[in-house]
Amino acid sequence: MHLVRQILAVICLLFSSIAAAAPLKVVASFSILGNLVQEVGGDRVQVNTLVSAGEDAHVWQAKPADLKKLSGAPLFFVNGLGFEGWLKRVEQAAAYKGKVITVTQGVKPLTLKEDGHHDHDGHDHGKTDPHAWHDPRAVLLMVAQISAALQAADPAGAEQYRKNAAAFSAKVSQLDQSTAAAFSAIPAASRKVVTSHDALGYLGARYTIQFLPLQGISTEAEPSAKEMAALIREIRKSKIKAVFAENISNPKLIDQIARETGAKVGPPIYSDALDKKAPANTWIGMFTHNTQAILAALK
Ligand SMILES: [Zn+2]
Repeated sequence: MHLVRQILAVICLLFSSIAAAAPLKVVASFSILGNLVQEVGGDRVQVNTLVSAGEDAHVWQAKPADLKKLSGAPLFFVNGLGFEGWLKRVEQAAAYKGKVITVTQGVKPLTLKEDGHHDHDGHDHGKTDPHAWHDPRAVLLMVAQISAALQAADPAGAEQYRKNAAAFSAKVSQLDQSTAAAFSAIPAASRKVVTSHDALGYLGARYTIQFLPLQGISTEAEPSAKEMAALIREIRKSKIKAVFAENISNPKLIDQIARETGAKVGPPIYSDALDKKAPANTWIGMFTHNTQAILAALK
């Protein structure tokens, strides 16, 4: 009897180590989303990301190795809202047959009006702003969808995915609460920040911060001399003390603005990609870094 139990125990151990050795291989379109999938997936899931840390998804182009990563994967997590302009091309080139999970489904999108200002009611004119991951409430919706997709693809891990998602969501909610409290201590009229491209509308909508971007929602177009002059006037008029360049963009124009206005250049803001190293190599690290840098500049 004893021996049978021991043999059974050994077989169980073998099976669990086989399960642990063969994680579910999934793909995420960019680094920030890749981290969210990894937080929910834990050690049952191996996440490959297409647009890596430090790369710009707006102008990214797939290499043969990227197509290879995607072709056999059962799940492909994407942001949607037009962020991955190359999505259909890449799916076709990889002959992708798995499921595509658009994690912003159910997120109320912000749009950019003709005059270049964000429309917080999400009316359907103007361009859709894809950068929803800067609002922790949107991240909670994304995490729920990631969890549901992983549970469906790997039912044996369902309990683990639920637990991971709950633990991570609790951290995100806590961070959201403390960030809201920190921003509300600063007068709303002084919450103005200059950044390189218009990526932080969701952060602005959540904590009532006005972002004055150099470029639009994509990083492709350079600002005109007229737009630069208008922004410099606005910085002087509003007495904005700090300007920020993003990790994915050329800091040259932001440096020029700082020279002409006397504003200080803050630490890089992580808008569309994580950093390769800590602290901004996770969503939590990125969000904490960004909001602390902005709070420090506004105080
Ligand atoms: Zn962007």
